[in-house]
Amino acid sequence: MEINILTIFPEMFAALDSSILGRAQEADKIRLHVHNIRDYSESKHKNTDDYPFGGGAGMLMMVQPIASAFDSVAPNPYPGKRIFMSPRGRKLDQQLVKKLALEKNLTILCGRYEGVDERVMDEYIDLEISIGDYVLTGGELPAMVLIDSISRMLQGVLGSQESTQEESFSLEGLLEYPQYTRPREFRGKAVPEVLLNGNHAQILRWRREQAILVTRKRRPDMLERAKLTDKERKWLMALEEESRHDD
Ligand code: SAM
Repeated sequence: MEINILTIFPEMFAALDSSILGRAQEADKIRLHVHNIRDYSESKHKNTDDYPFGGGAGMLMMVQPIASAFDSVAPNPYPGKRIFMSPRGRKLDQQLVKKLALEKNLTILCGRYEGVDERVMDEYIDLEISIGDYVLTGGELPAMVLIDSISRMLQGVLGSQESTQEESFSLEGLLEYPQYTRPREFRGKAVPEVLLNGNHAQILRWRREQAILVTRKRRPDMLERAKLTDKERKWLMALEEESRHDD
């Protein structure tokens, strides 16, 4: 996958050169091209921001440098998605990550200050994405979150594809079950016996039950859409009934 990043802080993306994403780049699974928007500014001092028309606090990123950057690295018509990281965008979730992982080309614009001149959206942006209902100082960290989540879905980026199949949000709409590694006992806390007996059918059943219980406790909103069997739904209803009696 080819990913362009438009930013005024290109040095921040050095964080993606480590670990799994570093290896993915070396193996040519992803190609990251970080472009400094400042290089495209036509103003004498290479400015990228100005005061907002109509007044108000802070500065806005100007349309010209960003438009020139898009024209140079991701011009119309673009064979992929051009994304603006923005708190007012569609909230990122695993479903959107999987969809974007199918694209061959992405260009990601990182905002700064109070945001970006709206004319950039009209001309160049296919999708605005938010990483959550809070406001950060810039779009660089959100862009890295997006790139990390997409990259690990690409074939050959993770050691084993199972790692993406048996995790939260992929386990048929459930959160992940608890996991343990050595030692068998730590400060009096033992690993559940079922994981040590080598009975794979029992382990699978236990993990499935635990995934349902964790989801019920932490994200009950997910259970409605989760792919559960009739038996599991009945079990859940019995649990609800029990906890009503306990109250
Ligand atoms: N004035 C903007 C607003 O109220 O929506 C916030 C601007 S924020 C200080 C600067 C930039 O950080 C945004 O343009 C965006 O690129 C990025 N950003 C901040 N929070 C974000 C979030 N939750 N998700 C994605 N991008 C975010």
